[in-house]
Amino acid sequence: MKGPTPRRLQKYVTRCLGLRAYVHSPGDGRVQPQIPASALLWGLLIGQVLRDYAFHAIEALVGWAARALGVSRAFGDDALGYFTERLDPAPTRRALAHCVRRAKRNKAFDNSPFIGLSVDGTTVGRCRASKCPLCRPWRDRARHIRGYHHALALISVVGTGLVLPLDVERYGPRDSEYAAGQRLLWRTLRQVGPILPIIICGGVCPRWVSARGRRLGVAGGGAAEGQSAGAVRCRTATLSRSDSDSGLP
Ligand SMILES: [Zn+2]
Repeated sequence: MKGPTPRRLQKYVTRCLGLRAYVHSPGDGRVQPQIPASALLWGLLIGQVLRDYAFHAIEALVGWAARALGVSRAFGDDALGYFTERLDPAPTRRALAHCVRRAKRNKAFDNSPFIGLSVDGTTVGRCRASKCPLCRPWRDRARHIRGYHHALALISVVGTGLVLPLDVERYGPRDSEYAAGQRLLWRTLRQVGPILPIIICGGVCPRWVSARGRRLGVAGGGAAEGQSAGAVRCRTATLSRSDSDSGLP
């Protein structure tokens, strides 16, 4: 059996997953780009696969072995920063939804009885002072502000052995994980369709999922430990009670 190589991975992504158009046009928003978007995107993907996520590390990787990694030309970390800052997220969302639908169609999930979409909160970055409107304070146990970070609602396919992150929705100080989770869940359902059950972990309101999910044929329910970040805290008891209600808002 042939081992995995970047070239074979590229072939799998473009041919088997049908993402050739996305790799060549991932939503590049640069004006007069000098480096092809496909090279930068593939560099980012290879960085994820090799767990070298930092732009400096990706620059070193492609500087060392661009050809072997299937990257058409070398580039600097500043090019990656410029590219990602201007990248339209919509094509990436569509590409990920396409992969999930294809996996479902090809029965890749059939041997996983507990597979579903999980919505939960997470954070990224950390700095001492607030630097942008999305910065939210993070506090120690005594509720003292120790710094700032960005908060996100994250939706993933879970129960497959691997957790497959699908999309994120950010929320600032005047927003909530609850509201961001709603926006995220319905955006994902519009793109993926109601093909997987929803598992709630954290701040998305189960009453809302239960009522509107039924209309879409989506099973609401499942639970993880309640988490403190959201405006609404979902616990197992809340989920089971709301799932048994009939006239939900
Ligand atoms: Zn910020």
